[in-house]
Amino acid sequence: MTERLSIEPRFRSIEDNYKEIISRIAEAAVKSGRSPADIRFMAVTKTHEPALINHTLSLGVDLIGENKVQELLGKLDYLEPPDVEKHLIGHLQTNKVRKIVGVVSMIQSVDSLPLLHEIERQSALKGVTTDILLEINIGEEAAKTGLPPGDVAELAEASADCPHVRLRGLMAVPPVCETESEARSWFSRMKRMYEDLRETNLPGAGIDTLSLGMSADYEAAILEGSTLVRVGSALFGLRRY
Ligand SMILES: *Cc1c(COP(=O)(O)O)cnc(C)c1O
Repeated sequence: MTERLSIEPRFRSIEDNYKEIISRIAEAAVKSGRSPADIRFMAVTKTHEPALINHTLSLGVDLIGENKVQELLGKLDYLEPPDVEKHLIGHLQTNKVRKIVGVVSMIQSVDSLPLLHEIERQSALKGVTTDILLEINIGEEAAKTGLPPGDVAELAEASADCPHVRLRGLMAVPPVCETESEARSWFSRMKRMYEDLRETNLPGAGIDTLSLGMSADYEAAILEGSTLVRVGSALFGLRRY
């Protein structure tokens, strides 16, 4: 009983948050000269319990993102619908690739050659193709994972030699910014790298995803060309660790 009493208000606030986010996304999409349908919405579900996640799925969310392999695997049996599209968005260690390939349709956080090759190897073993994004450490921050911008071309070319991996684009978490214009300048750099990547016409790739924007800055990201926003706390409220 206490469980239901405490979860009902959270369901309602998720509904309110979702409506608000969707309308802001639509507005930013139109401002950027695109259609709302051109922007993919991801609910970032890390730290949240399956009942809350499933509630967002019942509202029409069709993509979830988790940043830890173990946490995602622990939730799989409880997701409804079980086959909801899942992406890994957090740093991935090579020794965990085996557990996640075939579970997620996309790994957004590919940032090294050994990781790329292990994803290829495990995907081949399982007979699947894994979509990937290259994660760029756009601010070149020492404390962050992700590829230095200068290494993108090399890794992108290497992905063309991996028949079980399909490169779909780029992802980044820019440095924390004081102002919207500062945030937009990072997003705009990412957009230029993304356009450069598209223009290389790499064999085997299908560059259509620029994953930028979180709770604090998804509108700014859309205005600069993001095609996929990853929203956690603005939807679910603050994370409880
Ligand atoms: C946690 C996380 C998000 C969502 O962050 P919010 O600010 O809560 O929206 C997005 N992307 C990545 C990579 C994350 O780890």
